[in-house]
Amino acid sequence: MTYPNTQLLIDNQWCDAANGRTMPVFNPATGLEIGRLAHAGVADLDRALAAAQRGFETWRNVPAAERCAVMRKAAALMRERATDIAALLTQEQGKPLAEARGETLMSADIIEWFAEEGRRVYGRIVPARNLAGQQMVLKDPVGPVAAFTPWNFPINQAVRKVSAALATGCSIIVKAPEETPAAPAALIRAFVDAGVPAGVIGLVFGAPAEISSYLIAHPVIRKITFTGSTPVGKQLAALAGAHMKRVTMELGGHAPVIVAEDADIDVAIKAAGSAKFRNAGQVCIAPTRFLVHNSIKGDFAQALARHAESLTVGDGLTKGTTMGPLANDRRLAAMQQLTEDAVAKGATVAAGGARIGTTGNFFAPTVLTDVPLHADVFNNEPFGPMAAIRGFDHLEEAIAEANRLPFGLAGYAFTKSLKNAHLLSQRLELGLLWINQPALAWPEMPFGGVKDSGYGSEGGPEALEAYLTTKSVSILCN
Ligand code: NAD
Repeated sequence: MTYPNTQLLIDNQWCDAANGRTMPVFNPATGLEIGRLAHAGVADLDRALAAAQRGFETWRNVPAAERCAVMRKAAALMRERATDIAALLTQEQGKPLAEARGETLMSADIIEWFAEEGRRVYGRIVPARNLAGQQMVLKDPVGPVAAFTPWNFPINQAVRKVSAALATGCSIIVKAPEETPAAPAALIRAFVDAGVPAGVIGLVFGAPAEISSYLIAHPVIRKITFTGSTPVGKQLAALAGAHMKRVTMELGGHAPVIVAEDADIDVAIKAAGSAKFRNAGQVCIAPTRFLVHNSIKGDFAQALARHAESLTVGDGLTKGTTMGPLANDRRLAAMQQLTEDAVAKGATVAAGGARIGTTGNFFAPTVLTDVPLHADVFNNEPFGPMAAIRGFDHLEEAIAEANRLPFGLAGYAFTKSLKNAHLLSQRLELGLLWINQPALAWPEMPFGGVKDSGYGSEGGPEALEAYLTTKSVSILCN
């Protein structure tokens, strides 16, 4: 299986860093170096910024219908190339091939939705108080964007940002994840091959803190968008604030799963169980805090443990693998620490709980029950294959627990009662709520969190709004 070295993209040229610096890329299933990527320095960033400024002037003057046509071509290329791109993604990130292929194909859907929505960026006419004049509200692209994207969904965390920027007439520089560079580079190659003009998209890698502090402060950049952890998001938002830059922040969560007394356990296990272990749990919207009515807690924990044990953990390239390794050894260490802490504080391990083997970052799908509230896993996002279960007696208790943490990204609930569903949809402090179903993050629905999980949306018409400025124009006709 081949894996390419990854270069920077500046002004539609794929290039090495000016100083020739490179970094290694490792396969998390084997621990072996599989390739290298170019590590940008300030000279490369300056060239990318100048290109983004020129690219913005070009692209904002391309009619929305033509921008849409180019984007649709990029979507078609992603579909055509899905098999090859999925293989790259699995090698560098670890997820099973089927999931990698799903991520690649979903990116085509996302590009198409944004391409079409870009044709519907409307202003409005407001009745004037003086009939000799006209009042208009115009929408302009905000300008060149700096995007910082993470390693858990190397394509899908980048595609929402690139698509929203391009659909609205902005240019964008993507600082993609150094741990998983080839898949986002393949996404950006599809846009270049589809005919996006020079400078409209740039791709850089390097030292994240150096690149973000340079790009965010730079006068060419007008908007920042980041997906990653809450602590880093707070730093970047503060920096953006110091330079008065627009910001979208998609940060960590700690998703409650409320399983009410009247829930269908099979539905809950199927939906929340598969969402839990997808991408080895390294998903910002993954179910993490399972709050289960005490009358069904035992049955639920057993069924979730059986589900966890039924998964086949292995190299994502191997046929039959249903859960791959963790993407890096930081997550492996975190899973070990969270398990030890929970057990020391009184939790029971119902499934998994340990590393598998000594090669690669494999950790067994883990279910912990009777987890006390003060266990770390109930307070810090696990971001791994770990489900923590607690019981409750009254729905109000579960709501209070769901809202207790500073996070407010995703949540899940299982109940047959419309009254419960209504109550939960009113009271949970979340950006995303799925009731009696798995997480389906369609591009036409808003996607984003509240509280420490960030602000702004990466789906629905709100996602385009974030890349637009509003201009109020009043004309008096003499
Ligand atoms: P981390 O906080 O070191 O990094 C998170 C992401 O931010 C990475 O992609 C990293 O390259 C980037 N980053 C770090 N410092 C940066 C800076 N100064 N400027 C720009 N980008 C920067 O954590 P990690 O160990 O890579 O990931 C683990 C944690 O990150 C998880 O616990 C999870 O909360 C969070 N995370 C969230 C998402 C998400 O989808 N919201 C994705 C990946 C990671």
